[in-house]
Amino acid sequence: MSADRICIAMQKSGRLADKSLEMIQAAGLRVMKGANDLFYRVENAPVDLLRVRDDDIPTFVADGVADFGIVGLNVLEEHGKGASEVVMPLGFGKCDLKIATPIGFDYKGPGSLNGLRIATSYPNVLGKFLADNGVSADIVTLSGAVEVAPRLKLANVICDLVSTGATLEANGLVAVEPVLKSEAVLVRAPKQLSPELDKVAESVVQRFRGVTASQGAKYVMMNAPRSALPKISEILPGAGAPTITPLAGRDDAVAVHAVCQENVFWETLERLKAAGASAILVLPIEKMM
Ligand code: ATP
Ligand code: ZN
Repeated sequence: MSADRICIAMQKSGRLADKSLEMIQAAGLRVMKGANDLFYRVENAPVDLLRVRDDDIPTFVADGVADFGIVGLNVLEEHGKGASEVVMPLGFGKCDLKIATPIGFDYKGPGSLNGLRIATSYPNVLGKFLADNGVSADIVTLSGAVEVAPRLKLANVICDLVSTGATLEANGLVAVEPVLKSEAVLVRAPKQLSPELDKVAESVVQRFRGVTASQGAKYVMMNAPRSALPKISEILPGAGAPTITPLAGRDDAVAVHAVCQENVFWETLERLKAAGASAILVLPIEKMM
């Protein structure tokens, strides 16, 4: 840590580690992986990366040890964000915290959990969910292998992270209720910075916004008859107002350029063609500001 540099806390190894580093690199920060395992230095900006266990990131940010953190919303909600601010979701590390019951359990809603024992690694998030739903149940806190708790008769049901459901199924469980939708987020410390460092911090935020905005976005170009423009605007997924340019020597046709915020599928291209578009090109977008 250094008084004249910005510090971003990220997971050292695990599910979010590689994606976090990719995100930082996509934001144009050139990371030098030195001999120091705890810190990576950015060579083209006054930024350091603090590499730690994800569970410690909320505390480091809330205490101002780090200026920013990249962490799962599930971990942030569990450990408490204090006065830290969630700046933006980052679009990776998606998973859901869910209630799962043994297959065959007659689940009719949160009320079915009354009086049960629920195993979880997320006692705070689960406690809040139960309170919000007026449920009284016992929480059994485990730090791992939550999905085996029902078989061991430690608990009746569980509350755990689910992405595909395969682990649950292998343990005779099925997800019945979402508790928290999670993904990696950028979180910012509640801390006054010097004017110089504040500028660096703002540029970090702007660049992260640019990277997330361009994720999955496509630049679409085509030629089309003027009369087809209303139909084409309808078909283009998540496009703002397209740019329309006349085609040399053609009064009836124009070139259409648009940024689509969502993925463009073959099916979309076929519909554009059916609407009268020709010479359709879909290009990836590298950066956006
Ligand atoms: P650490 O050693 O840093 O404490 P960990 O073992 O607690 O790591 P990981 O398993 O690496 O954590 O998961 C980190 C985060 O990745 C989770 O908190 C969650 O936000 C996210 N994640 C994405 N998909 C999944 C999934 N299928 N299961 C669990 N976590 C997932
Ligand atoms: Zn952890």
